[in-house]
Amino acid sequence: MKKLCILICTFIIIITAAGCGDTDLKSEESTENMNPSAVQRDSENNSEKESENDMANTNITPVLTYFGHATMCVVTEDNKVIYIDPYEEGDYTRTADLILVTHGHYDHNQLQKVENRNENCEIITYSEALQNGVYKTFDLPFVIVEAVEAGNNPNHDINSCVGYVLTFKNGKTLYISGDTSTTNQMSELGNRNIDYAFFCCDGVYNMGNAEAAQCAEIVGAKHNIPYHNETANGELLDKALAEDWSAPNKIILMPGETLNIE
Ligand SMILES: [Zn+2]
Repeated sequence: MKKLCILICTFIIIITAAGCGDTDLKSEESTENMNPSAVQRDSENNSEKESENDMANTNITPVLTYFGHATMCVVTEDNKVIYIDPYEEGDYTRTADLILVTHGHYDHNQLQKVENRNENCEIITYSEALQNGVYKTFDLPFVIVEAVEAGNNPNHDINSCVGYVLTFKNGKTLYISGDTSTTNQMSELGNRNIDYAFFCCDGVYNMGNAEAAQCAEIVGAKHNIPYHNETANGELLDKALAEDWSAPNKIILMPGETLNIE
């Protein structure tokens, strides 16, 4: 009986020791791909950590928040923060890594609204993006930014306006038309399999719904989003006008709403 008891105790000790060793090995392996806060949680609940990590590897995409008018913010997969055409009120608390401005009108270039900036924050405006008739490409670690034609109407000189095509690390593309009417380059964008495209369609300063719908056909993006159509009484997006827009594959994104670039 005593021998049996010793045998059982020895067996339990061996199993316990082996279990601890296995846990240590797992946490060492997984630490390589984790951030410090995730490592801290690891000591609390290993299995919970593993399921969270799986989600992090498969579910995180760039997330775009629309502020209204032409203003938006994109947080990339690696938490880099991009503000586009800062003007409308919104959450500017995230620290900027990149600010894009399509042209010099006041409703697009209120850079002072982005107070929080990383020391390496890049600012790309139409001046940097269009030089001597050449549309520039900026290959940043977290996004590729290509300037494209914009303007081309009486209120917006094609020589001092740009749109942007952003390509994220997940391969998805986002086209921001800027303030514009139809441009020649839109047909080239039609070969790019753009994933998400924003088209201005105010019909006062730029093209209206009918022309913007034709542009959406030309560019042929998988998803088309109307923007820059603030109402006279200050609503940041004219929902009725957006609902009338006949572009295919339409998404109506209301101010404050978010869009996963996936
Ligand atoms: Zn504008």
